[in-house]
Amino acid sequence: MEHPDNPLLVCEGIPRFDLIKPEHIEPAVSQVLEQAEKKITELESNIEPTWSGLIKPLESLSLPFEYAWSPIGHLLNVKNSKELREEHQKMQPKVVQFSLRAGQSRPIYDGLIAIRDCPEWDDLDDHQKRVIGLKIRDAKHSGVGLSGDAKKRFNEISTELSRLSTDFMNHVLDSTKTYEFIITEKTDTEGWPNNLLQLASQSYNSEKKTDESTPEDGAWRITLEAPVIVPFLKHSRRRDQREKLLRAYSTRADSGEWDNQPLIARILLLRKELAALLGFDCFADLSIDSKMAPTVAAVFDMLDELFNASKPHQVKEFNDLEKIASEGGQVEPLNHWDTGFWSERLKEKLFDFTDEELRPYFPMPKVLDGMFKLTEFLFGVTIKEADGEAPVWNPDVKYYKVYEAGKQVASFYTDVYSRPAEKRGGAWMDNCLDRRVIDGKVRLPVVYLNANGTPPVGDKPSLMSFDEVTTIFHEFGHCLQGMLTTVDIADVSGINGVEWDAVEICSQFMENWCYHEPILRTISGHWETGEPLPDHYVEKLRKTRVYMAASAMVRQLEFGLTDMTLHSSFDPEGEETAFDVHQRIAEKTKVIPPLKDDHFLCAFSHIFAGGYAAGYYSYKWAEVLSADLFSAFEEVGLENDSKVKRLGKQFRESFLALGGSVEPMKIFKEFMGREPSTEALLRHSDLL
Ligand SMILES: [Zn+2]
Repeated sequence: MEHPDNPLLVCEGIPRFDLIKPEHIEPAVSQVLEQAEKKITELESNIEPTWSGLIKPLESLSLPFEYAWSPIGHLLNVKNSKELREEHQKMQPKVVQFSLRAGQSRPIYDGLIAIRDCPEWDDLDDHQKRVIGLKIRDAKHSGVGLSGDAKKRFNEISTELSRLSTDFMNHVLDSTKTYEFIITEKTDTEGWPNNLLQLASQSYNSEKKTDESTPEDGAWRITLEAPVIVPFLKHSRRRDQREKLLRAYSTRADSGEWDNQPLIARILLLRKELAALLGFDCFADLSIDSKMAPTVAAVFDMLDELFNASKPHQVKEFNDLEKIASEGGQVEPLNHWDTGFWSERLKEKLFDFTDEELRPYFPMPKVLDGMFKLTEFLFGVTIKEADGEAPVWNPDVKYYKVYEAGKQVASFYTDVYSRPAEKRGGAWMDNCLDRRVIDGKVRLPVVYLNANGTPPVGDKPSLMSFDEVTTIFHEFGHCLQGMLTTVDIADVSGINGVEWDAVEICSQFMENWCYHEPILRTISGHWETGEPLPDHYVEKLRKTRVYMAASAMVRQLEFGLTDMTLHSSFDPEGEETAFDVHQRIAEKTKVIPPLKDDHFLCAFSHIFAGGYAAGYYSYKWAEVLSADLFSAFEEVGLENDSKVKRLGKQFRESFLALGGSVEPMKIFKEFMGREPSTEALLRHSDLL
């Protein structure tokens, strides 16, 4: 159906980014919601428990949202405006409500169970079975299978938990925002980098509503926000001030009006009860039920293995810091507020280069071009510019098509320059359109690659830091999984349906290539002179990757172990508090005793206000797997083109092709011919 008046209602081709206006949102989304509501009600009153009778119609429900709603989410990120935000906010609660209602429909749930239990189940293929399995699992986790008192209690708990997590987050934000430490003595700022001087001075002016502060002469306002406190702890030469700030940082939201301590106890208690209602022993078991990791014990095994391997190196790294601190004239023994500072001094001494120095060697067009060439080589596809063939939201946006054996298989947008007034920061990947079948024809996937490089000026291209280079490889890894899918069911094509702890496998896999010298060579070269990246930088880049690797690893393990313990063996009604658990773990993970009043849990929003409850380990899990996969390429020899190509094809046909349609552990084992191992990650981090 064509609706020339409202581009959001055109359900074909690529979303009309050139025509979409904020005023289109409300009428289009209202209409889509109304029709979807009608269809789902019809479906519920007439359940036909078959693939074509139930699953197909459910899948087709999502299509109008793909055109009317998901482009709005994208535009909010890249072309934000007050009008767009207002129109989006008007409709968002309604869309969320509809998706909850669809996911929690009892008739549909019963229909899914009926399909699973009928004799025709075996006629379905594995992808279809997986789709139904995932739908049943998600519905079950949202309490659909419960009835009577259990259901009532489940809903009460869910409501309270959602309120608690909002309060938790607000407490963290408020206590972070409210704290300030004003510095007025210029001598106290010795050694600060320019952008810290700038930020702290800006912060002073905006908070005090004045313009009397300058970066050179102050005053400077130090806050607990990451862009300020992180460089402060690394560079402030005032040891007493570092102590003061670190203590303030690790006691955020732990008392007074923003006290998160009682919330933590309550959240853990409710989560345990919620898991029990769904038939799980603990909340960690519930979390793992929808993850790639097979069991809670397997997660602990992985964390312990990494810990045991890293611990001796962590102690050695600490000794190196003690040495440079004493050379630098510090007489007191190292404390927690010293490690960041001396680590930075040691880094300067060992590597002696700045991010800025490297930028001229990484012009963005060259980086992208090299990355596309690597992709073509590894996965046997061809990437062609196709500007003008798809609508764009900004003239800087580029459009590409991806071909395999002469046939188009996908396309993607790149939007890589910063536009601070309307675009969010950082780099990220997003789905534009899923691969799916419409009227018997495959519709190809489209994805976005977004970044925030400095826009080119005249002849001067956008110049990237090495960090930005690895980030763009990372995001393109997500893009590849979104594009090279061969699955035709939208629910599990591309990155859809991929388990949380497996989502980062393809992205981190791509990052590894940045450290391989021939690739590093193809993506670098001085933008003006063409001079290759000097050898000493190549060496240093590889070394900075493993600098203080054990300390960084153990810090993440402390978080992961604490999270997992609190959601499994910990008894919320027992003698020990959550803080005791953290202290007990921190005594193992820290080289010197933890601060007695370290209440970092009170600001651990990932697990108390975000989606990482009993899931923080996912970061390490995916890192272990992606390093392991990369090691298969190392084993055949990265210089061995024909063997690398053969493996690349295999990777393309497994991880990239299957996406969410097959359980990731199965894909992994088929690719590697064995269980995952931590060895490669430890070797890459120089921890063996
Ligand atoms: Zn990622």
